[in-house]
Amino acid sequence: MGFYSRMPASSADMERTFIAVKPDGVQRGLCGEIIKRFETRGFKLVAAKFVQASEDHMKKHYLDLKDMPFYAGLCKYMSSGPVFAMVWEGQSIVKLARMMLGETNPADSKPGSIRGDLCINIGRNIIHGSDTLDNAKMEVDLWFKAEEFVNWTPCSQAFLYE
Ligand code: UDP
Ligand code: MG
Repeated sequence: MGFYSRMPASSADMERTFIAVKPDGVQRGLCGEIIKRFETRGFKLVAAKFVQASEDHMKKHYLDLKDMPFYAGLCKYMSSGPVFAMVWEGQSIVKLARMMLGETNPADSKPGSIRGDLCINIGRNIIHGSDTLDNAKMEVDLWFKAEEFVNWTPCSQAFLYE
C-alpha cells in the first residue's frame, strides 16, 4: 500500500515527509533534540525506527545525486552507523520541515534552524529531510512498510488546525 492511500481521508492538504537523523547526529546524541523540534512545532509522528541502513539502500535513497563527486562517500557514510528514520505528518510539512532543517550547508543555515544551531560541516549536517512532495512519497515508501505506520490522533490536533 502506498503513501497516499494511508493518509486520513479528511485531510486534503496534509502531507507526510521523511526525516532521518544521520549517523553523525545519532553519534552526537541529537535524536532527542531533533524529535523535540518536530513535536513542539505540532507535527505528528506516524512512523519511526532506529536502523543501520545498507550501502545499497543509501544508493537508492540518494539516486538523484549519483553523478555528484560526493555520492559514493555519502552513501558509505550514511550506512556506517545507525540512523533514526521517521515519518512526520502535518499541513505543508514538506516545505516547513526543509525550513526547519536550514540549508544543505550548515554555514549558510540561519541560527534557529536545526543545521544552523547544531552542526558546522556540509558532509556532517546531521539530518535528512525530503525536498519535494514527490520525493517525500518515494522516500517514505523506500524506508517504511505499510504495517510500520501507527494510526493515531494526538489530543493536540484540534488546537493546531482550525
Ligand atoms: N553533501 C555533501 N557535499 C556537498 C553536497 C551535499 O557531502 O557538496 C551531502 C550532505 O550530507 C547533504 C547530502 O549530500 O545533506 C544530500 O545532498 P542534497 O543536495 O540533497 O542536500 P539536502 O537535501 O540534504 O539538504
Ligand atoms: Mg536532498
